Amino acid sequence: MTTVTAAELPSASAQDEVVELCRDLLRIDSTNRGNGDGFERTAAEYVAAKLAEVGLEPTLLEPEPGRTSVITRVEGADPSRPPLLIHGHLDVVAADPADWTHHPFGGEEADGCLWGRGAIDMKDMDAMTLAVVRDLMRTGRKPPRDLVLAFVADEEAGGPLGASWLVNNHPGLFAECTEAISEVGGFSYTINDDLRLYLIQTAEKGMAWMKLTARGRAGHGSMLSSDNAVTALAEAVTRVGRHRFPIILTPTVHQFLDAVGDALGIEIDTDDLETTVAKLGALARMIGATISNTANPTQLNAGYKVNVIPGEATAGIDGRFLPGHEEEFISQIDDLIGPDIRREWVVLDRAVETPFEGPVVDAMAAALRAEDPGARAVPYMLSGGTDAKSFSRLGIRCFGFSPLRLPPDLDFSGMFHGVDERVPTDALRFGVRVLDRFLAAS
Ligand SMILES: [Zn+2]
Repeated sequence: MTTVTAAELPSASAQDEVVELCRDLLRIDSTNRGNGDGFERTAAEYVAAKLAEVGLEPTLLEPEPGRTSVITRVEGADPSRPPLLIHGHLDVVAADPADWTHHPFGGEEADGCLWGRGAIDMKDMDAMTLAVVRDLMRTGRKPPRDLVLAFVADEEAGGPLGASWLVNNHPGLFAECTEAISEVGGFSYTINDDLRLYLIQTAEKGMAWMKLTARGRAGHGSMLSSDNAVTALAEAVTRVGRHRFPIILTPTVHQFLDAVGDALGIEIDTDDLETTVAKLGALARMIGATISNTANPTQLNAGYKVNVIPGEATAGIDGRFLPGHEEEFISQIDDLIGPDIRREWVVLDRAVETPFEGPVVDAMAAALRAEDPGARAVPYMLSGGTDAKSFSRLGIRCFGFSPLRLPPDLDFSGMFHGVDERVPTDALRFGVRVLDRFLAAS
């Protein structure tokens, strides 16, 4: 691994610039309302201008007007080595200013934080990537290998007009890339003054959003009915919602629990994982969903009048399966709903898992330790989904690594898509230093 000398560390301007870049991005409203309703072009043009300013040649790509992604390549010292992909999405979910302490698109700085929709999801990482790359270009420092930078649209709707579209239509842009870094990982979880776990995302559950339909005989509500669609659907939905899926430990979650158990001095009882997970405090909600498949009923729809039996009833189910357990999950669901209920996929997207090992992982851990002597990198699984699902289709090993050293009391996971999303400016500067070291060593 390359040793980074003090002279190679990012200049003070990169660490100052990251705050300015993040603030500018937060002030651009790039809300993605789903179903094709979004607009990333302003943010994309901003990013492209910042890349062009330091001599890079960004390409803007749009499957539809306004749904813009930006791609560029940074030349590395050894062009024979496979490139590293750094991807970040430019869109954000909606925010209602009435709920917020500071306007969600104001980019205000208060209490040591930048406030705004996207502050941690994920204009923070977009800004850190820009700041580090601009510094590399300005100072003429070449990373060891080529970097492919992708600032993409539409992640918040699953990427059909962003990452997934790029992978389907322009896979050559990512040719030879072997690893990628992006959200949701690299953030600290404080154990005590001397020990912080940095959760590196190495796995994601798969998504199986489905619509269930029951059909029966329509008729008058006063008559006898043995073939009632509402009754049949309600029974199927109840069976799914009440079902307790078996506990399964994938390699990522096993490693994570071992590391957390070790850090907290808790005995991990694999025969009683629910009790063990309950002891994890703030992490329990996040980790609890990564020890089994899950299926939550979320929508019901039937009928239009109380005295009319409808011929059809439908339900929405949010299903999530563990890596390697997709087929098993589908057959579990089909057993639960039975043969008379029709199942259609609304979204079916893959689960992702890559081993927590290799030079890239070593470089992440070393970069974190260099900036925080109390850092310990651990792998974890995200119960949600990111653009990693799309890029992993190209055989790229995807990691959530957007390094942030967070204050112990900040409810980080609660801020995703939440009110008063904000990022400490110190954490952004920390992220720039860590990313710079990581890029110099990977
Ligand atoms: Zn995100």
